[in-house]
Amino acid sequence: MRLILLGPPGAGKGTQSARLEQKYGIPQLSTGDMLRAAVKAGTPIGLQAKAIMDAGGLVSDEIVVGIIGARIQEPDAKNGFILDGFPRTVAQAKALDAMLHERHMELNAVIELVVDDKALLARIENRARETVAAGGTVRADDNPEAFKKRLIAYHELTAPVSEYYKSQGELRTVDGMAPIDDVTAALDALLAA
Ligand code: AMP
Repeated sequence: MRLILLGPPGAGKGTQSARLEQKYGIPQLSTGDMLRAAVKAGTPIGLQAKAIMDAGGLVSDEIVVGIIGARIQEPDAKNGFILDGFPRTVAQAKALDAMLHERHMELNAVIELVVDDKALLARIENRARETVAAGGTVRADDNPEAFKKRLIAYHELTAPVSEYYKSQGELRTVDGMAPIDDVTAALDALLAA
């Protein structure tokens, strides 16, 4: 199964992707995680991406399309994958279409987790608090200032991606404000249909 999870930052894409990964035995491909790993490892891509990510902006389409293009060819993605945080621009969505077409692969579902902005800010503040309480390190972009920029980038550049899939009749939506288990159940129901 090849699935795209769309939704604003803090909508629960990571949490739900991890559950779907377990259930369907297909990897969660998070461009955010991959970029953070590149930053940590100090690779050329990481060095280029760090300041943009910390400020809440979007890394170039060229970089993320390159990362995903290579990643979906890995053996563990042979039977499918869950894209989390990609595509984030219409250009990325079109590049993905071209890559899938070229490799004779099809998408099975595009699902958007719908959450309103006010709830998102509260969630991010909570995520930062929980991370500190667990002795972890808070993401550099999980602060109110960078988060507001991430939300602006979402509305300007990523919301049109939902429209793109909607116009193709591919978009499904799930209420991301519901409790986590209810969101999981709604995703399961959509994927079983
Ligand atoms: P995430 O973990 O998905 O919230 O992503 C964290 C940050 O990584 C984003 O705010 C962007 O700076 C960058 N990023 C992740 N995925 C993409 C993407 N598909 N396109 C551009 N930038 C991305």
